[in-house]
Amino acid sequence: MTDTFTSHFIAGAAHEDAAGTPLAVFDPATGETIADLHEATPAVIDAAIASARAGFALWRATPPAERARVLHRAAALIRARNEELSELETRDTGKPIQETRVADWASGADALEWFAGLAAGLSGEHIELGGDFAYTRREPLGICLGIGAWNYPSQIACWKAAPALACGNAMIFKPSEVTPLGALRLAEIFIEAGLPAGVFNVVQGRGAVGAALSARPEIAKISVTGSVPTGGKVYAAAAEGTKHVTLELGGKSPIVVFEDADLDSAIGGAMLGNFYSAGQICSNGTRVFVQNSVLPAFLERLRARTETIRIGDPKDAETQMGPLVSDAQGEKVMEYIARGREEGAELVTGGTRLRPEGCAAGFFVAPTVFAGVTDDMTIAREEIFGPVMCVLGFDTEAEAVARANATSFGLAAGVFTRDLARGHRMAAALEAGTLWINAYNLTPVEMPFGGVKASGLGRENGRAALEHYSQVKSVYVGLGPVDSPY
Ligand code: NAD
Repeated sequence: MTDTFTSHFIAGAAHEDAAGTPLAVFDPATGETIADLHEATPAVIDAAIASARAGFALWRATPPAERARVLHRAAALIRARNEELSELETRDTGKPIQETRVADWASGADALEWFAGLAAGLSGEHIELGGDFAYTRREPLGICLGIGAWNYPSQIACWKAAPALACGNAMIFKPSEVTPLGALRLAEIFIEAGLPAGVFNVVQGRGAVGAALSARPEIAKISVTGSVPTGGKVYAAAAEGTKHVTLELGGKSPIVVFEDADLDSAIGGAMLGNFYSAGQICSNGTRVFVQNSVLPAFLERLRARTETIRIGDPKDAETQMGPLVSDAQGEKVMEYIARGREEGAELVTGGTRLRPEGCAAGFFVAPTVFAGVTDDMTIAREEIFGPVMCVLGFDTEAEAVARANATSFGLAAGVFTRDLARGHRMAAALEAGTLWINAYNLTPVEMPFGGVKASGLGRENGRAALEHYSQVKSVYVGLGPVDSPY
């Protein structure tokens, strides 16, 4: 791997076009420029499409067992280089090294391994028709466009590439313009692992580049991870060309804590579901409903634990929370905090911008808890994407379900209770693509992940993802003479 960055990766090699609009990449903790890239020009987009077409022709004809070997080798290379890749992820995103070491590239490698395991088992079915018969072929879609968000850039690239490549597709990946570096490393690793040139390409740019790629007729499928408004635009572009689509969008997920729960675990779950990655996680449980009988104890212990979180330089292994990814995101979070105060929420802890030593340029926000939040407050309705937890009291299970579901989002939900039956009743009643009982934000690759309602369409991970990166062709085989009335 090189130490410098060329903007794009096309036809198996780094690719530059300095005529593209400059795209500087900053370390969120220090403000230091870590790469100077360029957005894709139309010529770069044309080159990426041509590359992916050639790559697809080769890869679709590659035996699935060989595809599996390549994905396994890529996973092994990632694991061997986890430390340096995690350091890069930390500089690109501002997330603490203690997180990126275990959660980012590692989960990407998990996905590559798991879909490698499934690749060799891809098959269709035989359908007996009494003499004649039919069979189905599970075929790749073609060129898949992956569009990433900035919070888990390398994990997102791997989560999209792994099932796409296992099924025999080619991919053009457009990372978020805020965190574009990890995908370039992934492209290099794939080549080293033996992936044919052109099967995985990286094209950089802001939203307009994503839109230009989405409009190209050569693209068979678009998978975007991003906000609900972006998902709507991609969905419309996909409709225009009748393209397949997976939308992994935002959320305002509920965590419901009953009085019989293990309170320390529930507090731990709520903290993980609000403060990990400085709160920049789509599935965060940002509306924490706590049964009123245990609300005072919950808040007191939550406040004490929140105030021990170590905030500072994300490169320091002791740091538990780093800066927000950008000043713009930091300002947005502070505006929501101000709005919460104005609308009458009670600030339990946090609420301020911090300037840890040595990281003066970073936009750090203290982990923030609001209590006394009502369902109509802005902070309870809109996705903040920062370390801001809203705690709401409730009395009955039915009330909790109704209020938890009263949102247009439906990405995830959590329930903490020792009552087994209630846990499963809640799992059935809450409108979410993923539900955790006595856990939160665990997303093993074996488990499908995605949203309902405005939070998305389709699923990543699990066997379900194969359905979204392949299509079924039915083949009818006639064994006798054609019975025709003409
Ligand atoms: P965003 O919507 O601003 O951008 C996402 C990506 O879409 C970027 O690469 C961007 O350049 C691109 N884009 C923007 N406009 C486009 C257009 N018109 N056509 C094609 N592409 C376009 O999101 P973000 O700020 O990068 O990420 C934060 C959001 O992502 C949050 O809402 C979060 O909840 C969501 N998210 C969801 C998941 C999930 O799996 N459901 C995971 C992570 C983040």
